[in-house]
Amino acid sequence: MQIAIDGPAGAGKSTIAKKIAEAFGIIYLDTGAMYRCIAHSILMQGDNFNDIEKIIKLTEEAVIKFQGDHVFCNGADVTEAIRMPLVSLHTSDVACIKEVRKLLVEQQQKIALDQSVIMDGRDIGSVVLPRADYKFFLDADITERALRRKKELDARGIEKSLESIKQEIEKRDDNDRNRCEGPLVQVEDAILVDTTGKSIEEVCDVIKNHISGV
Ligand code: C5P
Repeated sequence: MQIAIDGPAGAGKSTIAKKIAEAFGIIYLDTGAMYRCIAHSILMQGDNFNDIEKIIKLTEEAVIKFQGDHVFCNGADVTEAIRMPLVSLHTSDVACIKEVRKLLVEQQQKIALDQSVIMDGRDIGSVVLPRADYKFFLDADITERALRRKKELDARGIEKSLESIKQEIEKRDDNDRNRCEGPLVQVEDAILVDTTGKSIEEVCDVIKNHISGV
């Protein structure tokens, strides 16, 4: 079984995808974490985001692994580091590079080859798993999405105003929607789930009911 979950930042994709993976006993792949790993590596090396050749080389050499809730890049646990605001800000700079997308999409498709998966991202229903059994597009009101992100940052002790989070999310969504390669899009066969005002359990139920044909 293949399940694709796409949507803008803060729509609840990863939280929901993890729960659905647990409910159906399948693998969850956070594709955003892969793009974040590349942006984090560039920042760590002090490189700039204009050196496209260097970014491609780094992507070719990157060994990204998932173990439980942890993400490893080239052997280092980057789980927390890749969620930092600076990484979020620069991830769309690497995600718009055609070769980077090709390399990461190939890895994602390989993972889905011989096992049941649920993946979340921006291009899962359109590019990574165009033949997925189920496709969902999660969305929510911008203020609610920004509030969710603020809660996450507060929990990690990172102070940021709601307004600046809102602006960053809007900028990121705009970049993701308007790039040429693998843009954020709701494909025709995806079911739109508006998560505004809904609890995690309510959203999970909507998705589970679709999958179970209820
Ligand atoms: O899902 P998450 O917010 O962690 O994704 C971070 C960024 O990675 C997105 O804003 C987008 O630029 C990029 N991304 C992507 N394609 C995916 C997943 C994430 O371009 N499938």
